[in-house]
Amino acid sequence: MTQENKALFIIFGATGDLAHRKLYPALYRLYKKGFLSEQFAVIGTARREWSDDYYQDVVMDAIEDSVESEEHGRSFASHFRYQSHNVKDTEHYVTLKKLADTLDSEYDLDGNRVFYLSMSPSFFGTITDHLKQEKLISDNGFNRVIIEKPFGSDYESSKALNDDILESFDENQLYRIDHYLGKEMIQSILTLRFANRLFENSWNKDAIDHMQITLSEQLGVEERGEYYDKSGALKDMVQNHVMQVLSLLTMDAPKSYTTNEVRNKKVDVLKALKTPVVTDFVRGQYSESEDGSVTAYRLEDKVNPHSTTDTFVAGKIVIDNDTWDKMPVYIRTGKRMTKKSTRIDIVFKQSENNIFNDTPTHLTIHVDPFEGFELTLNDKKIGPGMDLTPMTLGSLRSEETIENSPEAYEKLILDVLRGDETHFAHWGEVSESWKFIDQIKRLWEDTNHPIAFYPALSMGPKEAFELLEKDGRQWVWNP
Ligand code: NAD
Repeated sequence: MTQENKALFIIFGATGDLAHRKLYPALYRLYKKGFLSEQFAVIGTARREWSDDYYQDVVMDAIEDSVESEEHGRSFASHFRYQSHNVKDTEHYVTLKKLADTLDSEYDLDGNRVFYLSMSPSFFGTITDHLKQEKLISDNGFNRVIIEKPFGSDYESSKALNDDILESFDENQLYRIDHYLGKEMIQSILTLRFANRLFENSWNKDAIDHMQITLSEQLGVEERGEYYDKSGALKDMVQNHVMQVLSLLTMDAPKSYTTNEVRNKKVDVLKALKTPVVTDFVRGQYSESEDGSVTAYRLEDKVNPHSTTDTFVAGKIVIDNDTWDKMPVYIRTGKRMTKKSTRIDIVFKQSENNIFNDTPTHLTIHVDPFEGFELTLNDKKIGPGMDLTPMTLGSLRSEETIENSPEAYEKLILDVLRGDETHFAHWGEVSESWKFIDQIKRLWEDTNHPIAFYPALSMGPKEAFELLEKDGRQWVWNP
């Protein structure tokens, strides 16, 4: 039985790329599956002058791939209205309030409102401030704000941004999106760890040697050169996605599956990270590919030709608490790498007495593009003697299953409607993560840490391999 949810969505940045590619298709799938009843409405707002009819056509275009029928799509799109204006303009919010109140009674929405800030973070404070001042926050229903990344560019700016938003909304009304937290396999980390005694008992310093997290992209910066050149991989990927994944992998067991328990345990482990040292972090940037088919980062559109921005980061993050006793988590993420993949490799220790001279076994959590688990163990080689051979127990989801499972934005928007904040980034996690990232950034700046260049379409600079080799280890995945 699906539970229908009624609400008015007000999307700021309704003409943008994210709204078109992710939000409209996600809302449509919720409608198709019955999670959104006929009692919902959307107000799209942005600078461009669009009519309602034009906006509804844009929505139809965005859902083209998944639409059941023209008629069904039209019936969905008829819930959308458009209002053009500049978000800095007070008048905008007065008109917006009138439209919101009208739609509220037209669709019988009980005052439930979701404000989706799909715009540059520099506008977040201005928008939330106006929403409060111009009384767009309803008195009767729920009022929830969805915030896109990036949440600040360092600890100071994220704190200022947070303080600004908290003038108008409470923390429990804020849903900071980290779409990795909506991914099936990232959510599966908790069930794997805490619904299987086998892993529960061996998820600690006694059994695990180290972990590896890889988030590799094959694409370059595309049209986002201007934004990316000011950000880089450390801020764009490590601060949010990598740190979230790391905290789910290494947090202590929550007493129960509740938002606060999970969040508190994640914050605890982020607080237990050892102060980073500069030699443990590689700052890479792609140069031209070896076959000359892919250009260097510095020659990309809207990128400074002398840029020192990191398009790749590899690092060793050490967890310094009783559970882990300085266990390293090696991370790497970058653009223009050999293949696109998100995967986690958990490398176990050799068996205690090591009577067969075993190769350390490992568990791979495939997040994207494959989804599933593979556990590589030592088996006995068939024949005389007691030699070993690797054996893999695997459970990879079929393409059809992946195709039919809900996409991250769809699940996260449904969570917002249901008031479930578990899969969103809490201020505690965001702030601890920024503090850690700021230290790395400062080390790089203070020591003039050199850029390690890597050819586009490779797995990163040689320094990323040496990082593990000096500890007597190697990357499990080497395409
Ligand atoms: P975009 O540049 O395509 O769209 C920005 C939107 O903001 C447009 O609708 C534009 O009209 C509107 N806008 C800008 N200034 C305005 C003003 N003064 N008044 C009213 N409207 C104004 O951006 P996007 O790619 O859709 O991204 C939106 C947000 O989502 C950003 O914070 C971005 O970092 C984040 N994000 C985007 C993606 C993505 O895949 N596009 C992924 C993750 C996060």
